[in-house]
Amino acid sequence: MADRAGRTGRTDGAERAGGAAAGAPPGVAWAPDAAERRDLAVRAAVEQGLVGGADAAPPLVCLLDTAGIRESAAALTEAFAAALPPGTPVLHAFAVKAAPLVPVLRLLAGAGLGCEVASPGELALARAAGVPAGRTVLDSPAKTVAELREALALGIAVNADNRQELERLDALVAAGPPGPPASPIGVRVNPQTGAGAIDALSTATATSKFGIALRDPGAREWLVRAYLDRPWLTRLHTHSGSQGVPLPLIAEGVREVHALAEEINAAAGRRQVDTLDIGGGLPVNFASDAHTPTYAEYVAALRAAVPGLFDGSYGLVTEFGRSLLAKHGLILSRVEYTKTTGGRPIALTHAGVQLATRTVYAPAAWPLRILPYDAKGAPKTGPPVAQDIAGPACFAGDLLATARELPELSPGDLIGVPDTGAYFFTAHYGYNSLPRPAVHGFTTTPGGGVRFALARRAQTLSEIAAEAGAATPDALP
Ligand SMILES: *Cc1c(COP(=O)(O)O)cnc(C)c1O
Repeated sequence: MADRAGRTGRTDGAERAGGAAAGAPPGVAWAPDAAERRDLAVRAAVEQGLVGGADAAPPLVCLLDTAGIRESAAALTEAFAAALPPGTPVLHAFAVKAAPLVPVLRLLAGAGLGCEVASPGELALARAAGVPAGRTVLDSPAKTVAELREALALGIAVNADNRQELERLDALVAAGPPGPPASPIGVRVNPQTGAGAIDALSTATATSKFGIALRDPGAREWLVRAYLDRPWLTRLHTHSGSQGVPLPLIAEGVREVHALAEEINAAAGRRQVDTLDIGGGLPVNFASDAHTPTYAEYVAALRAAVPGLFDGSYGLVTEFGRSLLAKHGLILSRVEYTKTTGGRPIALTHAGVQLATRTVYAPAAWPLRILPYDAKGAPKTGPPVAQDIAGPACFAGDLLATARELPELSPGDLIGVPDTGAYFFTAHYGYNSLPRPAVHGFTTTPGGGVRFALARRAQTLSEIAAEAGAATPDALP
């Protein structure tokens, strides 16, 4: 793999080797690593007409590396299994909002994962993927009575966000069949351990909107009492944030929740809290192909901060999203035009705010790499030139990258935007009525061939019109 940069002659400065996949041992058939699989897929996507530099092919497509997704799911499962006594119940519930695609949820279910859902739509996707109620967790700060009732009827685990939601659950449990509810029920706690690098994604701040704030005056005593009064509260939940929250801060939040569980159980005189839901939030490296930090590093940080979490006395639920999918997604767009304005070369592409909303509105917090390919889908080389990579939307800020050093792009070239498998093209933003592009999963064969499977077809223009009220044009007389 060391010769990879030389082989491809990449000049984008990104480290293109060093992904999760190890090189094949001697005597074993060559297995491409993640960066090599990506390049194979780009070329095949052009050859098979999924995207193209010419007008006949679609200008935009999104790809998912299914082998990579499976590798991440296995790495997560193995990291926890290696640290826990055999037989400890663990549910890794994928945070559906990170990649709300039914085939992705089904793939992950096949790898042993469940689903964390936070809206009726996400629950519908999990059910469409065949994820059983017993492997589904419902979190949301604004669950309606109807949603809570449905979750309890199905036996889906529920984490209550606040005191009023707990009162609604009191009424629903009292009105339900005798005995404890079929759903495991917990309370989300905000450990108030502080913010990470991105405020909008930090959920454990002093004033976060999520959960019951543990350090507010009287809160801890209130929580212990709430559990003693409700023998059916058997879980505690926390999630300290996503992207930008460092591992020690995540671990500190989990330590707080573990200590609270111990306190509740001591007060109850029994192991009333039997499961801790420790959320997700493992950050992703957007600067290179390296998967850092790893799940094993996360487990090691947790073990150091909360040894009791791994003694088998609690079942565990995790809710990872970004770290399972991000590295395995690629946006591929044609460069439609190039121009120079005010001395700055600009490449006008079809990949913009509709797919990378956070990057466009908060570029400093969400930088993305840009990988240049020629019209045939081969990595493009050449002396670096500072260029802006612009999207198709009608506002000046629709830029994926500014003054990025890349080989000079020409119309018909392609740009790849890696690390976009979570929260990017699956979280479409409907600005300018730009359609949702197709998403294809891909696998590579031992000979270097690539097979695509459609995970989501492109949105059609008639669907856009229909969703915009085309059936009722005279509705506003
Ligand atoms: C968003 C979210 C997650 C997933 O976070 P990632 O950073 O994608 O791992 C997990 N749990 C809850 C409650 C969330 O809101």
